[in-house]
Amino acid sequence: MAAFGSLSDRLTAALANLRTKGVLTASDVDGTVREIRRALLDADVNLDVVKAFTARVRERALGAEVNKALNPAQQVVQIVNEELIGILGGETRRLEFAKQPPTVIMLAGLQGAGKTTLAGKLAMWLEKEGHTPLLVACDLQRPNAVQQLQVVGEQAGATVFAPEPGNGVGNPVRVAKDAIRFARDKQHDVVVIDTAGRLGVDADLMKQAADIRRATDPDEVLFVIDAMIGQDAVATAKAFQDGVDFTGVVLTKLDGDARGGAALSVASVTGRPIVFASTGEKLTEFEPFHPDRMASRILD
Ligand code: GDP
Repeated sequence: MAAFGSLSDRLTAALANLRTKGVLTASDVDGTVREIRRALLDADVNLDVVKAFTARVRERALGAEVNKALNPAQQVVQIVNEELIGILGGETRRLEFAKQPPTVIMLAGLQGAGKTTLAGKLAMWLEKEGHTPLLVACDLQRPNAVQQLQVVGEQAGATVFAPEPGNGVGNPVRVAKDAIRFARDKQHDVVVIDTAGRLGVDADLMKQAADIRRATDPDEVLFVIDAMIGQDAVATAKAFQDGVDFTGVVLTKLDGDARGGAALSVASVTGRPIVFASTGEKLTEFEPFHPDRMASRILD
């Protein structure tokens, strides 16, 4: 994945240096940990996450762990791999569905993060999984947002619920509630609510998202974060966690070549798992997120 290309190269190189050594000394381990630390920081991984990560790797690598099947260098690679899986959230987290349909999924995040595109991607993916999603246009701030959702809905072959002119315009809470009623009537088992985003975190936006959350009691609130926004990712995630609280994270634009490390820190900093990853503008460029597979890709 382009966003982690450089990180991947640097980590692999740091670990490759160990391969030539039969026995690892404390100074070998320290040297490698220093290189890992620099690679993570240069990739924009959050400083606190880097500190905790490298401390654990160092402690475990120097500790008494003995796995006779692996040479010392392989053991360090395994430790780094396990710790990477840890910061990426550990186990794969699957989407939670309501016992009593419809399942309500609310999308939140800054403008441009990729929420509307994600709504289309989710719709397509949900249909493939046998669901009948309804997309709901609650981004009533941005000109064209409703129309954009209608376009992605059409591409995904999903129904889009949008306010009728003069009926609920400007009131996203009402639109969301009407949409859930509509979904019950028309047998849509999943409702995906697209919400408004601003360019920066702002109190009105947060209140609106919190109001929608309160009114719809979603099964999932997915915080959508653009991996290209760099160091701001962590502060933005914390602001959304305080403002609306979310149940999972979706990383978008992992195909971009900006440093993606800050986005990788979001799961670790918020304690919320990454549920999906988005890797392009096309609706099919999207997949459930598997921490173990991502860690392997990074260390490949
Ligand atoms: P919203 O404001 O959060 O609804 O964001 P949009 O869904 O409108 O996305 C903003 C821009 O990012 C659009 O041009 C999308 O085509 C683009 N986009 C969304 N997801 C991705 C992705 O994973 N990769 C790339 N390269 N572009 C994306």
